Amino acid sequence: MNIVLLGAPASGKGTQAELLAKKFNLYLLQTGALSRELSKSDERIEEIINSGKLIPQEEMTMHVINFLTKTKPDLKDILFEGFPRFISQYEALESFLKNKGDDIDAIISLDISLEEAVVRISSRRTCSKCGKTYNTITNPAPNGVCECGGELVQRKDDLPESVKVRFEYYEDNTKKLIEHVEKLGKLTRVDGTQSIEEIQKQLVDIVEKVKLK
Ligand code: AMP
Repeated sequence: MNIVLLGAPASGKGTQAELLAKKFNLYLLQTGALSRELSKSDERIEEIINSGKLIPQEEMTMHVINFLTKTKPDLKDILFEGFPRFISQYEALESFLKNKGDDIDAIISLDISLEEAVVRISSRRTCSKCGKTYNTITNPAPNGVCECGGELVQRKDDLPESVKVRFEYYEDNTKKLIEHVEKLGKLTRVDGTQSIEEIQKQLVDIVEKVKLK
C-alpha cells in the first residue's frame, strides 16, 4: 500500500504523516528530511532549501528513485510526504511503482488557507537534534524543549523571506498537481484546519478503506 500526502507548507502533513505511518506500519519517506540530509554534503542544495526554493523537479525525482532502488530495494508500504510536488514527479512516481507491479493507492490533500498557513509557519519550531516539529500555538513542546532533549529552533526556510518563496512554489506547482489528480478522480481532500486528532481519525478511515480494497 502506497499513500501520498499532499498539502501546503505548514498544513500539518508532517505531523499527520508521522502518526499515520506509525499506526499502519508504513515506511515514511519525507523528501524534506531526505533533502536536508543531502544538503549536509551539498552546499547548492543547502542554499536552495534555506531560500525556500524547491530542488529542480527531475533532480529530486532522481534522488527519490535512487533511494528507493538502491537503498531500499525491497521496500513496500510507503507513505510519501513532500513528494510529489510537481505533476512530473507524480507521473514519474506512478510509473516507477507500476513498473514494479505496484501503484499509488491513495492521494490525500490536507487543505488549509494560505492565511492560516502563514500564521502556523511563523509559530513552527523544529528540534535541532531529531527534526521533530512543534507549534507554539497548536502543538507546544511541554517544557519548551523537544522530547529528545534537543533545542527547538525556527527552520531557516520558516523565516518570512523564505516563506514567501515557498508559497509561490506551492501555488505554481503543488496546487496544480492537486488540481490535476483531482480531475483524474484520484484525490481525497481533508480539512486541515481541524484538530490534530480529528484529522488523524479521518486519515485513518481513508487508509482503512484502502486496505479493504
Ligand atoms: P519540506 O520539509 O517538505 O518543506 O521540504 C524542505 C525542502 O526540501 C523544500 O523546500 C525543497 O527545497 C526540498 N524538497 C522537498 N521535497 C521536494 C520535492 N518533492 N521537490 C523538490 N524539492 C523538494
